Amino acid sequence: MSDVRAEYREEPCKVALNRVKGMAFTWSLNPYMGCVHRCTFCYVRAFELRANRPFDSRYGTSIRVKVNIPEVLRRELARPSWRREGVAIGAATDPYQPAEGRYRLTRACLEVLGEAANPFSLITRGPLIVRDADVLAAAARRADVSVTFSIPTLDAEIWRRTEPGTAPPRQRLRALSKLVDAGIRASVGLAPILPGISDRPESAPVRDTVRQLAREHGIRDRRRVRLEPPPEPEQLELLSA
Ligand code: SF4
Repeated sequence: MSDVRAEYREEPCKVALNRVKGMAFTWSLNPYMGCVHRCTFCYVRAFELRANRPFDSRYGTSIRVKVNIPEVLRRELARPSWRREGVAIGAATDPYQPAEGRYRLTRACLEVLGEAANPFSLITRGPLIVRDADVLAAAARRADVSVTFSIPTLDAEIWRRTEPGTAPPRQRLRALSKLVDAGIRASVGLAPILPGISDRPESAPVRDTVRQLAREHGIRDRRRVRLEPPPEPEQLELLSA
């Protein structure tokens, strides 16, 4: 993994749940903003570019930590108007990036959602999630809970080039199998398939291996998702760097 020093800004939030339009979910929750995993294909870079914020090599070097998000979430879930809709965690930033080891905000939010019997889904590339298998299992006994582990490739070269800050893919698979052993409904996400990089014919065996390993570990195999529409031209430069 690349070692990039990040600045952590502890900033309370006013709102925990964000209403989302045009996605498969209606509400999202992100305990952190910015992501030190710094994947070259991260679609958040395109948002940052359009908002005139750092999207290039500076992306992922300044992380906002929403230090009060569990309390704000608890208040929002207690509102009479709240209809206990599903909440997607990790759509804009990885909830199990390294900061979570220290701040434990994702864990606290899972506890709040579980106590409220509120359904949620979570997507991550961070093996740290295994630490919270107890909270996930407890929440899953009260509401619909699912975890997607993003493992788009087992190819070491593609991984190093495109996901400079993430844990090695096989480490993620091991973490995923521990979640399955703990009784948590978990899937593997083979996304994104990168045009010209991981969709080459020679990469097919890599994808097949991911699928096979996922099956061996008792993990459901999600449909692969192509990266469409293509990223911004500046992102393509990053992909081929
Ligand atoms: S882990 Fe997810 S949120 Fe973080 S940089 Fe990679 S794609 Fe973006």
